Amino acid sequence: MNDRPQQFASDNYAGICPEAWAAMAEANSGSVPAYGEDIWTERAADAFRTLFDTHCEIFFVFNGTAANSLALASLCRSYHSVICASSAHVETDECGAPEFFSNGSKLLVAQSDDGKLTPHAIRALATSRSDIHFPKTRVVTITQPTETGQVYTIAEVQAISAVCRELGLKLHMDGARFAHACASLGCDPADITWRAGVDVLCFGGTKGGMAVGEAVIFFDRALAEDFDYRCKQAGQLASKMRFLAAPWVGVLGSGAWLRNAAHANACARQLAARIEGLPGVRLAFPVEANAVFLQAPEAVLNRLRDRGWRFYGFIGGAARFMFAWDSDPAVVKALADDIAELALIPVYL
Ligand SMILES: *Cc1c(COP(=O)(O)O)cnc(C)c1O
Repeated sequence: MNDRPQQFASDNYAGICPEAWAAMAEANSGSVPAYGEDIWTERAADAFRTLFDTHCEIFFVFNGTAANSLALASLCRSYHSVICASSAHVETDECGAPEFFSNGSKLLVAQSDDGKLTPHAIRALATSRSDIHFPKTRVVTITQPTETGQVYTIAEVQAISAVCRELGLKLHMDGARFAHACASLGCDPADITWRAGVDVLCFGGTKGGMAVGEAVIFFDRALAEDFDYRCKQAGQLASKMRFLAAPWVGVLGSGAWLRNAAHANACARQLAARIEGLPGVRLAFPVEANAVFLQAPEAVLNRLRDRGWRFYGFIGGAARFMFAWDSDPAVVKALADDIAELALIPVYL
């Protein structure tokens, strides 16, 4: 029983969704101008402007590390600092890329259990030092939803942006799973971004069902100055840009961006509902998006591995399960059944 038909260790295990694939196939005809001068790039950018109902600037890069790092670099000078939560992807999973691309801007880390920043934590870090020896705070970055699957409400984003305005800080949102937050809140995407004071959003495509690609969206268009040069210098300017842009046309135009996320969230809730009430196991975090973190005795987790399930245990020893657009509810049920069965076996057996 070593190979399961589907695993939930990462939402990046999923393939490309039909809407993204079809748009790439459609874009794959004839010759069109390179480096973003094509009709697909224009259509994708317009689709974002329609979705967000504002005249924002949009750039397409290959992955989230590049999107976050280059966006933060565009907001900072080398002597600036960026406030983030301790579990933020920019801090823990980008190999120092934000510091590298900003030529040394420092990340100031606020301890946080659920990955959320609070106005209080931001204020405390931003006002802790004002002398010449400490990097000047310039940006706040929040992850929506957080790395452990918590979703900032509209009011929470508004409260954070209010303290940012007061302290003269820019607000960046890492939205690698932005669609999952929108599906979870059931809100207009504009309401948790520019209308709530977000200056720059990195909108993830990969975890939403695309092959590659993230969109960097500048709601404050002045901040986008020379961003195209940054992309080029960082090796992030796709020459055949139509293939980074077309999948966005497919998923935004069809509504698949939101449907995919809603499905992934529903699979997470399906598993969470089954775990609640089992003896000895519990959810390490509330399930608000497409992640489930299972806290269970090591014996239970080992038996789960023996049954062929793969998962990561990097956050406080909790087993992480991530769901995607293609997660099969029947396989989710099989996983839930295994957890339920194993939880009932005494750990000393
Ligand atoms: C996956 C992810 C990213 C992007 O990662 P890449 O591997 O660089 O595409 C960024 N932020 C968060 C919170 C993520 O989960």
